[in-house]
Amino acid sequence: MTVDISTLDPRIISLGKEFFKSISGEAPSVFNKGWWTGKVMDWAMKNEDFKVQMFRFVDVLPYLNTSDSLSRHIEEYFAGDDSNIPDVLKWGATKTGIGGGLVAKVLNKTIRSNIEGMARQFIIGQKSSEAVKGIRKLRKDGFAFVLDLLGEATVSEEEAIAYREGYLEVLDAIHKECAKWGALDSSGDLDWGHAPKVNVAVKPSAFYSQSKPVSLEDTVQGMMESIEPVYKKVMDMNGFLCIDMEALKYKEPTIEMYKRLRKKYPDYPHLGIVYQSYLKCTEGDVREMLDWARAENLPISIRLVKGAYWDFETVIAKQNDWPVPVFTNKPESDIAFERISKMILENQDICHYACASHNIRSISAVMEMAKEMNVPDERYEFQVLYGMAEPVRKGLRNVAKRVRLYCPYGDLIPGMAYLVRRLLENTANESFLKQTFADEADVDILLENPEKTLERELANKPEPKPDKRPRYKGVNGELEPFNNFPPSDFTIKAEREAFPEAVAKLRNGFGKQYPLFINGQDVVTSDTLETYNPADTSEIIGTVCQAGIPEIDKAITGAKEAYLKWRDVSPRERAQVLLDAAKYCKENIYELSALQVLEVGKQWDQAQGDVAEAIDFMEYYAREMIRLGDPKRMGNAPGEFSQYFYQGKGVAAVIAPWNFPFAISVGMVSAAIVCGCPVVYKPSGLSSAIGYGLVEMFKAAGLPEGVFNYTPGRGSVMGDYLVDHPDIAVIAFTGSMEVGLRIQERAAKVQPGQEHCKRVIAEMGGKNAIIIDDDADLDEAVVGVLYSAFGFQGQKCSACSRVIVLDPIYDRFIHRLKEAAQSVKLGPSENPENYMGPVVDKGAQKNVLNYIEIAEQEGQVLVKREVSEDLKAKGCYVPMTIVEGITKEHRIAQEEVFGPVLSVMRAGSFDEAVDIANSTKFALTGAVYSRSPKHLEKAAKDFRVGNLYLNKASVGALVERHSFGGFKMSGVGSKSGGPDYLLQFMDPRLVCENTMRRGFAPISEDDDWIA
Ligand SMILES: Cc1cc2nc3c(=O)[nH]c(=O)nc-3n(C[C@H](O)[C@H](O)[C@H](O)COP(=O)(O)OP(=O)(O)OC[C@H]3O[C@@H](n4cnc5c(N)ncnc54)[C@H](O)[C@@H]3O)c2cc1C
Repeated sequence: MTVDISTLDPRIISLGKEFFKSISGEAPSVFNKGWWTGKVMDWAMKNEDFKVQMFRFVDVLPYLNTSDSLSRHIEEYFAGDDSNIPDVLKWGATKTGIGGGLVAKVLNKTIRSNIEGMARQFIIGQKSSEAVKGIRKLRKDGFAFVLDLLGEATVSEEEAIAYREGYLEVLDAIHKECAKWGALDSSGDLDWGHAPKVNVAVKPSAFYSQSKPVSLEDTVQGMMESIEPVYKKVMDMNGFLCIDMEALKYKEPTIEMYKRLRKKYPDYPHLGIVYQSYLKCTEGDVREMLDWARAENLPISIRLVKGAYWDFETVIAKQNDWPVPVFTNKPESDIAFERISKMILENQDICHYACASHNIRSISAVMEMAKEMNVPDERYEFQVLYGMAEPVRKGLRNVAKRVRLYCPYGDLIPGMAYLVRRLLENTANESFLKQTFADEADVDILLENPEKTLERELANKPEPKPDKRPRYKGVNGELEPFNNFPPSDFTIKAEREAFPEAVAKLRNGFGKQYPLFINGQDVVTSDTLETYNPADTSEIIGTVCQAGIPEIDKAITGAKEAYLKWRDVSPRERAQVLLDAAKYCKENIYELSALQVLEVGKQWDQAQGDVAEAIDFMEYYAREMIRLGDPKRMGNAPGEFSQYFYQGKGVAAVIAPWNFPFAISVGMVSAAIVCGCPVVYKPSGLSSAIGYGLVEMFKAAGLPEGVFNYTPGRGSVMGDYLVDHPDIAVIAFTGSMEVGLRIQERAAKVQPGQEHCKRVIAEMGGKNAIIIDDDADLDEAVVGVLYSAFGFQGQKCSACSRVIVLDPIYDRFIHRLKEAAQSVKLGPSENPENYMGPVVDKGAQKNVLNYIEIAEQEGQVLVKREVSEDLKAKGCYVPMTIVEGITKEHRIAQEEVFGPVLSVMRAGSFDEAVDIANSTKFALTGAVYSRSPKHLEKAAKDFRVGNLYLNKASVGALVERHSFGGFKMSGVGSKSGGPDYLLQFMDPRLVCENTMRRGFAPISEDDDWIA
């Protein structure tokens, strides 16, 4: 039977009113201003700055193990001395009446114990015995439970196993007890006559540390293998297991795992899954699940929630320029909640329903729909969170009887993160609880049909703020403001499938010859070089013609001839070529990325990121050229017209590296070209097939002949010749410090016939460090360091090669890092399960192995992980290596390795850590993980590198947002992808005309003229 929700509205509203009446005068303890928590929440809701600081402080509190660090953080978070700490925080301490220096100590202790008390309000116990005791009490009060073990983010398999063991331990403790518990409202063994007494919830990603959307099958299997023992134990106890739903990236594997578990144990019906109504896709997903259950004839159980990751999903989508997956108007989530509830209740014969909400309108709607549809009591129940909405749970128990409390238990460290989520939920303006108990909103509004609320809110919604970023006028009209090209979203099936398809397609075309491209013509040479797959050196990608001196001469002559014409093409038209080239890349992104997977061993996401960055460079530089291209009038004196403008310097030699084979090549080449400088491009011999992509791209974009010349070649044959050539005006280079310095030296020498002072732009090496402060969030820091050090095998100029860890957190961090490194999979990058693949070639392999030997001599090996012998025999693999005991005097702390070798250094204080970080000749990237505002401030000032990342990995620079480049021996020149970059390829000119003839001067509008 089906119902129309709108016709039920009067009944829903009337039930809701009764509900309100039955709880009138009561408030959840988090809003009770008679207590510390209620006072703090009240203050937080009135004062956004305090709220941010307070929640951040709660988050860091478990790491503040000494009274000094506690005092320091209280001071840093709450602005200065005692007198500035908000009174609300001091509450409880001032009552002690202790004066003088002791006051601070007492105050600090009180703040800590108040916050811990606040966390305990939401947690049923820290030990399994406490959990059992708490459950016993709840049951006495007539509530069923669902138990959840709090956990930190699982970064290693050791942690995943410990998490599972934690569940098994608490289940054992419950097992011993549960026989003694009488069933709720029933004389049998089942609560309410139908529900298992033991009910457990699990967060699947915490059971498998390698869960990631890009490798769906591995994630499903990993999660399932790890959860199954818990499920078996639950089944032994005749219990119920619910698979919670986490962030969107885990949705698909969670659903798939649920189905597999359900099918594997078809006769055991007590397995549930959660869906979140705030996701736009959930209605379809639930429909699909119900159809599946029917087709398989397997009864299922669904808990419907609105969803706990709204802010996270929105921020991540915005940061990545992905469509926002959640509804953005709160009533839309409420409407979806009611609609999906209805769909589930309509299918009550195959699906048991758990309505999880604290919202009296949502609950009343479910009750009335169930009543109208005659859904039997045993087919649905209500669930609320422990510690939240006590009046609601009490009211519910009175009306609906079947109420289950979701009870987290576990340590305070993960408990604090959970507390922050609950605080955010309770203080959000959109929260039903806040509106009801803090804002005391009108009951009619609170119970209104969300369709009506939506209508009203949309009508009153202010216009979105205008995007104030500049919009430049191109040849085809106004351009959208610059946005970074989005990274792949591997939650989308089509994205996951596109990569292997593109790889297979490329393989079919392997073995072709890549000619040079000079002055608009293909040029074939007798000297050629094979380029191979580093994961399997017998797989030849193609044969690349090699330019010698005659070809370089030809290319420079062609470029020089093209220069005068190209220089004078309008900046807007030059910009349009870049925009057309960017379009070509967008259309061919999978093929361009797949080639990187095969030619240089990039992982899928890294390869896509490389092509995306190339697109960004062209989109950004096109706009930049338009910005710089309009001549600027200088001064406003009447009778004089002074104009400042730029012209391309001349022919540019672009010498590119293999590690960002497309992005950096395109970045340097497109900058030169858009500035009016024709290019002679020498890609790395290790990535020349990828480099050929530029030929195809510029052909597609219709670039005139001679402006771009593709001349791969052996450095020993033509490298110096190209740099020394008198007709080269600009050299843009990215690569090692040794070659960069050599280029600068040679370019400084004026050659016969040379008419320019050569401009060298050189991005060179790095010896990048990440500092781990004693209060760092290790969930983030471990993952960030691992990714920075070993993503793309550590072969990024921005890669982290030193991690500097403060003494108090050293053991904890290192243990987690080591275990995380032991947990990732190694092997060909083509397989997305693998975190780390081969280094780029045999030469790199030899070099890195040499450094690993040095590292072993200088420090103590913590991790040395190798691929199987089989893979080793085929490809250019080196061990993933972490050594500790490294000091700044060691070679491994000073020399750039360009491979997966990470040195661990210990520091006694934050100042010392910064000092160690600065102790190399390089200054490229760096990162700091810290929750101390003062330390972050100090790092911003004193950790002197080109790109510093706070609480972020040291890699992954984005055009414009993280314009990239260093100083000291890391490079000369302005940041690529930044606002000064193009200026390096151009000469500024000024033309000043005297406009006065015989005492008469035309006066223009912006002249300084008499009023
Ligand atoms: C027993 C139980 C189990 C739970 N298990 C899970 C779980 O597995 N996974 C999970 O994600 N959550 C889970 N939750 C948490 C749950 O998502 C939140 O408690 C719930 O969203 C709060 O909704 P409400 O109906 O109580 O309150 P309301 O105040 O009516 O709704 C608040 C919710 O609305 C949504 N929202 C807020 N702002 C907007 C906006 N601008 N546009 C659109 N929507 C918005 C958010 O989801 C927010 O949480 C569980 C909750 C309970 C009670």
